[in-house]
Amino acid sequence: MKFNNIHSLKDIINNCKNIVIIPHFNPDGDAIGSSLALHGILKQLNKKSTVISPNMAPNFYSWAPSYNEIIYFDEKSENCIKILNQSDLIFTLDFNDLKRIGDLGDELEKTNSKIVMIDHHQNPTNYATLNFSFPNVGSTCELLYEILLSLDFEMLINKDISTCLYLGIMTDTGSFQYNSVTSRTHQIISRLLDQNIDHNFIYNKVYNDSSSSRLKILGIALNNLVHIKELNTAYMFLTKEDLENSNYKKGDSEGIVNYGLSLKNVVFCAIFIEDLNEDNNVKISFRSIGNFKCNEFANDYFSGGGHINAAGGKYEGSSKKAVDHFLKNIFNYKNKLTQ
Ligand code: 5GP
Ligand code: MN
Repeated sequence: MKFNNIHSLKDIINNCKNIVIIPHFNPDGDAIGSSLALHGILKQLNKKSTVISPNMAPNFYSWAPSYNEIIYFDEKSENCIKILNQSDLIFTLDFNDLKRIGDLGDELEKTNSKIVMIDHHQNPTNYATLNFSFPNVGSTCELLYEILLSLDFEMLINKDISTCLYLGIMTDTGSFQYNSVTSRTHQIISRLLDQNIDHNFIYNKVYNDSSSSRLKILGIALNNLVHIKELNTAYMFLTKEDLENSNYKKGDSEGIVNYGLSLKNVVFCAIFIEDLNEDNNVKISFRSIGNFKCNEFANDYFSGGGHINAAGGKYEGSSKKAVDHFLKNIFNYKNKLTQ
């Protein structure tokens, strides 16, 4: 890939010493993978690098190289603010709107640091000094690989960094099944495999390391599944009670939404999950196959966004109310869902 601002990025990196890397709230494999990969590169360049995450990722990412060096804004906010204020450069990875990092965004805006956005979501907002915003690339990790190559840092991409990049590409492509996967994606994967990474270990750590609570919650969600045949749509929900009864832990519900798409002809599905710790707060995930734009639907009705085929949003109220709101509006999309 060609980047017209790569020289500016090189200059900024050369001239800065104290660097902070920020992934989005509830970081996923791509956010964690890209943050830790860049962290590894910057350390090799003898920079002082700190990864500050708004909150913790699910436990099934905790094996990632240097994961234990991440610090958490929701746990140590004063320490994080101090590090931010001492920084001269901040990378924001895998998001493009400060709303995605909550209160940490206010602190970021107070600093005088240069800000570099590296992201693949649509509709970037304008907060960064330099933008690397490429919605057509399947993952931030794939984009970061291309940027590292353009910066002439290929020789710094060692086994640990390759492992982090593989993690993000694997998770954000649904293990290489989404439309965003190209021959270039596979070329990059091939180069990462050349670093002797253990791809089987990575897959098993992320997908085959479940606690029984994760499977129980999957069972409850599948039991709650509603198939609206005439709209090629399916939805599921999990109430606070469901989560309490199955000993829910962070990350247990990740990926469940995708099961809706395994139904014949279904092109759109959603899952509504009540917040275990806060009443009247529902998190919604949307997934689609083909042209149906989840991000538009999420934005129009659930204050959210994301990609065409994977988006999220929120609703203030019970999951029942959120589902009612969904049902009130989804029938207007009959043409788009059945074409
Ligand atoms: P997930 O369903 O896995 O939480 O999110 C799917 C995609 O939608 C991710 O790429 C994520 O960045 C985006 N997303 C999830 N929740 C929100 C939200 O509340 N607002 C916006 N703008 N994007 C979201
Ligand atoms: Mn991503």
